[in-house]
Amino acid sequence: MEIIIAKNTGLCYGVKRALRMAKETRRRKEGKVSTLGDLIHNPRVIADLKSQGILSVDDLNNLEEGTVIIRSHGVSPDVYRHLKRKKIEVVDATCPIVKKIQKLVAKLAGEKLEIVIVGNKQHPESKGLIGYSRDRGVVIESERQAATLAFRKKRAVLAQSTQDLFLFKRVVSALIEKTEELRVFNTICHSTQTRQRATSELASEVQALFIVGGKNSSNTYQLFQISKRILPRTYFIENADQITPKMLHGAKKIGISGGASTPPEAIEEAVEKIKQNFEQQSHEESRVQCQR
Ligand code: SF4
Repeated sequence: MEIIIAKNTGLCYGVKRALRMAKETRRRKEGKVSTLGDLIHNPRVIADLKSQGILSVDDLNNLEEGTVIIRSHGVSPDVYRHLKRKKIEVVDATCPIVKKIQKLVAKLAGEKLEIVIVGNKQHPESKGLIGYSRDRGVVIESERQAATLAFRKKRAVLAQSTQDLFLFKRVVSALIEKTEELRVFNTICHSTQTRQRATSELASEVQALFIVGGKNSSNTYQLFQISKRILPRTYFIENADQITPKMLHGAKKIGISGGASTPPEAIEEAVEKIKQNFEQQSHEESRVQCQR
């Protein structure tokens, strides 16, 4: 049995930076320190932050005092204005790559272009980007939705930083038929693209692959989709306890990959659980042999 971990698995630069900033803020500041929404899509890390006195607050209206940390996904300009009015101190941990995309959206809106954002409508990054578009942005989740858009002389298309490259290309193709002059910006971040490539390569090499991460993490879900297209025996798990002997049955090479918000410990625990399963299996096999 061989266990292979995908290259570039583990927290991405933007998430690591946001976590570091949150912990530094907690050390420096008196009073309440909150994050606006979960800092990362990972229940285990959120529980750890809570134990350190960094609370996650979902609703802007429930923030009345102290310091708030903006997570790596970024927020719309409205949110900054709201916090300013309430005189709440802001520590901005928006990933610099997401900041760049926000600036691009604002620039394209200034040029009066319709802006198609290929992303997940409910994802905080997409919601933030829409806020910079001055009502010129639309979030599209599939090429089918892109095909329903009206014909335009000019339009721009870009992606949520964690989007699946394969889907982005398909939406771009659909938009070509709907636009005379289409400006394409591949804003999928380098770390996401490398991670996606490594996961798809691994899916072609192993017999079962575990994608480890929070179920509400968009980039982890993208990895699951990418791997599942290649390898039907792809499993999306939040923790090692979800690995069952049935999932491992007959597989000699097993892969593990994780999203941008999957902590290294979660990967290590998955490795351990797989090893334990195999040890138990071989023990049972040898026991059966002895009994014959
Ligand atoms: S996935 Fe990329 S853009 Fe998103 S937070 Fe991580 S490094 Fe930044």
